[in-house]
Formats: sequence, C-alpha cells, structure tokens
Amino acid sequence: MRLILVAVLLLTAALILASFVMAESLPANELGRIMILEYHKIDYPEERWTRTPENFRRDLEMLYARGYRLQSLTALLEGRVTVPAGTTPVVLTFDDSSPGQFRYVDRNGTLEIDPKCGIGVLEAFLKEKPDFGRAATFFVLPGASRPNRLFNQPEHEGRKLRWLVENGYEIGNHTLWHANLGKYDEAVVRTQLADAQTWVQKHVPDYKLRTLALPHGVYPKDVTWALTGTTKGTTYRHEAILMVTGGAAPSPFSARFDPVHLPRIQALGRDLKGWLDHFDKNPADRFVSDGDASTVTIATTQRDRLKPTLPKSLKVVER
Ligand SMILES: [Zn+2]
Repeated sequence: MRLILVAVLLLTAALILASFVMAESLPANELGRIMILEYHKIDYPEERWTRTPENFRRDLEMLYARGYRLQSLTALLEGRVTVPAGTTPVVLTFDDSSPGQFRYVDRNGTLEIDPKCGIGVLEAFLKEKPDFGRAATFFVLPGASRPNRLFNQPEHEGRKLRWLVENGYEIGNHTLWHANLGKYDEAVVRTQLADAQTWVQKHVPDYKLRTLALPHGVYPKDVTWALTGTTKGTTYRHEAILMVTGGAAPSPFSARFDPVHLPRIQALGRDLKGWLDHFDKNPADRFVSDGDASTVTIATTQRDRLKPTLPKSLKVVER
C-alpha cells in the first residue's frame, strides 16, 4: 500500500516537473500563431456543434497541461500579451448564447451557477488552476427567439451579462438575431449591429461591443458597414471581425495579422488535439510569450515578418 502511494507521488512529481520543464524550455516566439477557439453549445450529447461539459473540461485540462494560458480577445487586439513567459496565449469564444453556456440553478432559494454549464465548468477549473487566467468572449444574441436569446433564462439575462462583465469576461456582437449579413442591404445590416449594442446596454449601461463574430461566417456586401456606424442614435465600432473557420490566427505583431478577418478554430475534440500536436511538432509556428507585455521577442531571422506599424511603446527584442 505504502509502495503504491510512493509510486503515485513520484509519478505526480515527475509529471509536474515534466510540464514545468516543457514550458520553461520553450523560447519566446512572439511571431508565432495563436488559437482563437470557437465553442457553440455546451450540452448533451456531444455533436458537431455541441461539446459536453465533461469534454469541455478535458479541453481546458489539455490546454493547461500543454502550456496554454487564457488571454482576452481585446488584449490580443491591443497587442498586450500578458501570459507568463514560456506559455502560449489562447482565446476562448462562445457563439449564440445557448442555454448550456451560462445557466443559473436555484438551490434552496439561492441562485447558483450550474456547475454543468460552460461558465460553471470554466470557473471550477479556474479555482483549481488560477494561473490559467480568466478570459473568454461571449458572442450573444440579444433578440433571438428561444433558446438562443441571452442564454434562455429571461428572468436572469441582465444578471448574466453583468456577471460576465464584472468577472473579466467580454461580450461580443453576433447581430441581434443571427442575421446572415450577406443577405441584407446596408440599412438592415447596420440595424442588426446597432440594435445588438443597444439591447446589451439595456442590461450593462455603456458597455461597448468591441468585436463582431459573423453569423454563419458571412460578411456583408461591404465590410465597412460592419466596422463602424451610427443607427437610431447608437454608435457601434468593431475593432475585429471573427470568422467561423480558418485555423490559427497570426500573431498580433505579425504583418499578416488582419483584425477584419480573424480566423478561428472550431473546438471539436479531434481538431483541438490536432492543433496542439501541430504546435508541439512545429514550435516555430507557436506563439510563446516572453512574459513582458512591453517587449516583442522574436527570432532574428523573422524580423521582416513584423508588422510595420507596431506601437512605439513596444520594444522589439531579437533572440
Ligand atoms: Zn452563430
């Protein structure tokens, strides 16, 4: 019995050491690519657009163990990479505000976050691994029909949006009711985007939706309609437009970084593992933080890949 215990302890120590050494051994590479993961339903059963709470938990464990840490989408857009040295930022996004992403349950008169919903799983994981970082963007549908209207508990929808914002999460625009923006004229496109902003602000006054995820991945006929505008007294301004596919995103410091066409990776078990394996095999393609938000550390050979318009406050360090 004692022997088994010793063996288990040794194994645990070896695993901890291995993950530590792995993370430490990765040299900073801030021109590598970053995964923006895209989740839809967190629910049962596992399907094309559904991840079970258990599988979502496994995704988080796998990301953590392999040296990934959560970074917010807007931090990335601002070129503010704050994850620790030797780790790789990863962005979580959730589309469509389906019920399983964020659900309250009543336990003897007290409202609690359902441990089986997306936020419940994520928060429980963060209690165990606070250094994973707390960040995710929820691309919600404020005016959709049930069950996709703001997570499907009308009596709690304001509480949920405020909870997200107060706890470091971000809310993004996904149009008012999932309109295919390629099918409509300018007035409808602009109304869809402005109204989503207005409806969210009913619950979280002054909150700005800074990013837009395209329903069905379809751009409007003129992309400028989606970037900024004022309709019915509401001004919207999106700093990034996210697609539904496209693989890993270029580094925000790369000349190839295009916030108007940000690719994402659909977080399905096989695909996510495939990407993690890809980055393990091709470390030069993987973004690795230098742990200092004011410097950009790159391989000397990649200097010509830098974005020519980096803010002056960022210092480029070659290794
Ligand atoms: Zn959607």
